[in-house]
Amino acid sequence: MYRPLWIEVNLGNLNKNLRLMKRLLGKSVQVLATVKQNAYGHGLIPVARKLSDSGVDFFGVGSLEEAIFLRKAKIKEPVLILSPLLPLAVKDLLAYRVTPTVVDLSLARELNKEACKNNQILAVHVKVDTGMGRLGVWHRQAEDFICKLKNFKNLSLEGLFTHFPVADTDPKFTRCQITFFNSLLERCRAKGIGFKYIHCANSSALIKYKEAHFNLVRLGLALYGIKPHKKMSQSLYPVLSLKSKVIFLKGIERGRSISYGRTYISKRPTSIVTISCGYADGYPWNLSNKGKVIIKNRFFKIAGRVCMDHLMADIGNNKEIKTGTEVVLIGKSGNLEITPEYLAKLVNTIPYEIVSRLSSNIPRIYKYSKAHRKR
Ligand SMILES: *Cc1c(COP(=O)(O)O)cnc(C)c1O
Repeated sequence: MYRPLWIEVNLGNLNKNLRLMKRLLGKSVQVLATVKQNAYGHGLIPVARKLSDSGVDFFGVGSLEEAIFLRKAKIKEPVLILSPLLPLAVKDLLAYRVTPTVVDLSLARELNKEACKNNQILAVHVKVDTGMGRLGVWHRQAEDFICKLKNFKNLSLEGLFTHFPVADTDPKFTRCQITFFNSLLERCRAKGIGFKYIHCANSSALIKYKEAHFNLVRLGLALYGIKPHKKMSQSLYPVLSLKSKVIFLKGIERGRSISYGRTYISKRPTSIVTISCGYADGYPWNLSNKGKVIIKNRFFKIAGRVCMDHLMADIGNNKEIKTGTEVVLIGKSGNLEITPEYLAKLVNTIPYEIVSRLSSNIPRIYKYSKAHRKR
């Protein structure tokens, strides 16, 4: 590794967050870990392996590609693709034993045809829209849809699920969604249709709505140590750190400008460090003149615009910092910490975006706790 920019992923803390969340669940409730988009930037395979060893029951991914990566890495747990697939993916879906989400009859027909050809019964999950307005059959039409699915002889309706858009902010709307979902479940039950897995809750709903746990929860953000809502009382363990080093340092006089656009002018003689991390690495350009970094147990503000490969910080007259000194961009250092939540707030986005956009080119270094079982 020649360029000093890396991500450290603390898999021990990932496991601790899983334990913390599991404590909120009843005995019969299983956990589906969402590992879409490279496990929210944390690295799909090491994260999935750790979670598999930690007893997660199910994985949720966003694409068949991700599901195949899991299978090739010998992950044995069931894998649900949270998005519907186009017909061209159906053959490999069956070949890799992946569970699809079904939201329309045309996909169901293709799946059934292929399963029939293979002389196989394919487990599918049906997604219902109770207010997310994205994927899924509108709940009022869902009963009819499910009855039609029942006619596909090579499909088994293993799961029924829905998704919450405002579990963190709007209890009235969320409770209403739960009511719609329960009503659908009841109507299905009355027709003799049951599901092995019933799931609604994401991290936020897991914490706030016990009545939304059913028998499976889809857990993402909280696993990665990020609070799904600000007022959450439990504290989570940070999992991801983004680190770099000072690659250049120079003293400047008063009145010099730093970086593109000349948005930062030194007000006094000072020292400026150049750090190897830029917006192409996923560090938001909007953190220009706003973000901060930790060097030698002190915060320093970003000076001027973030560049493609670099960013600068004003370190004043600090004499301890040298070329090669470590810089923490996200994570803890001593008793200081920069969280994804904090950076997200500064640039008016959500912490999901901060971590998931960290370039997959950045090397990930995995830290295992002592008890880690070697595979
Ligand atoms: C990503 C995702 C989740 C997990 O959400 P978190 O807020 O990260 O816990 C749950 N359900 C679906 C459908 C998702 O796409």
